[in-house]
Amino acid sequence: MPITSRLTDEVRAVATDVIATRRDLHRHPEMGFRETRTSGLIERKLRACGWETRRIAGTGILGILRGEKPGPTMLMRADIDALPVRELNDVPYRSQNEGVMHACGHDGHVAAALGAAAVLARRRHALTGVLKLMFQPAEEGPGGAMPMIEAGILDKPKVDAAFAMHMWNDLPVGKIGVRSGPVFASADEYTIRIRGRGGHGAAPHQTVDPVVAAAHVTVALQSIVSRRVHPLKSAVVTVGQIHGGVRHNIISDAATLNGTVRALEQPVRAMVKRELYRIARGVAASLGATAEIEWRDGYPPTVNDRRMAELARAAAVEVVGARNVIEQEITMGAEDMSYVLERVPGCYWLLGSANTRKGLAYPHHSARFDFDESSLPIGVEVWVKIAERLLGGASRR
Ligand SMILES: [Zn+2]
Ligand SMILES: [Zn+2]
Repeated sequence: MPITSRLTDEVRAVATDVIATRRDLHRHPEMGFRETRTSGLIERKLRACGWETRRIAGTGILGILRGEKPGPTMLMRADIDALPVRELNDVPYRSQNEGVMHACGHDGHVAAALGAAAVLARRRHALTGVLKLMFQPAEEGPGGAMPMIEAGILDKPKVDAAFAMHMWNDLPVGKIGVRSGPVFASADEYTIRIRGRGGHGAAPHQTVDPVVAAAHVTVALQSIVSRRVHPLKSAVVTVGQIHGGVRHNIISDAATLNGTVRALEQPVRAMVKRELYRIARGVAASLGATAEIEWRDGYPPTVNDRRMAELARAAAVEVVGARNVIEQEITMGAEDMSYVLERVPGCYWLLGSANTRKGLAYPHHSARFDFDESSLPIGVEVWVKIAERLLGGASRR
């Protein structure tokens, strides 16, 4: 499939460097809050093309580019961390950091954002307002967006619009996914500790069996999504782990369940949490056991603003044509860009990066994940177009 994207000469001129940067980062992946080499590279490259830089939240980098004239402030975010995955790809740019891999495509995010930074720096005279580039650590956990927000990345000057991009292997290269409203879910974690009273496996009448209670709780939790959540809304309740017991003929004192809850809207998220507490406690009590629940709030839902999604869509159409900009499907995965989009209107867009013909279609987080690098210049071009639409670039006038 030929890629019919319309790339400007300026973007074509940085394409080779963008791909080289991506490969360099891919060779040297670093885990969350340990991205020291990565942020050093980002800092050097930003400064080389005239951006101001500041270190924020450990390994995070804030880049600032001030336009000739005053105007709105736009934030572009790229996450920079890798995953604890042993790479199985046999490529020249294979990870040299054994057991760590850019298996989600964040190497591409950094490279595309740096490419856009170089092009936009050359067009600074045509920009009204301020561009902020947020190179964020630890998206895969424990989360670098919140520390950067707490360090003031959205203030001075106050950010008016925020955007983020993800390489997307669920979409072929040449396509771009945009949607208004929720795009990713919230991701909370819970642990339920069920306490009974242990004893002999042959004398269950003398015990309160926590394993049976855990099984009943697991089944009852399934009714939250099927019977409590509105049929046209979405949520996930997964029990990921059950631990209990030590031996075939012993009834143990306790069992533990652990899992994840996903939702697209805050009221649904709150309702699922309430129901989980009620069901776990109620079902355990009905069997003579007790349930103690620990809830850990994770990333909230990632929600795109309608106007900003329209702006991103228009920018994408300019680059790949209307036929190739699709209404993005919602994913029940989660993203800490959500904290930014809770505070500032913006849009999280998806850059098609798969190519089945080249064998580049493994899912994100797979040890064989890789993407078609010809998606990178397309990403750069869309970034530039979004910035120009917001900050009144000359090509729009
Ligand atoms: Zn990921
Ligand atoms: Zn990712």
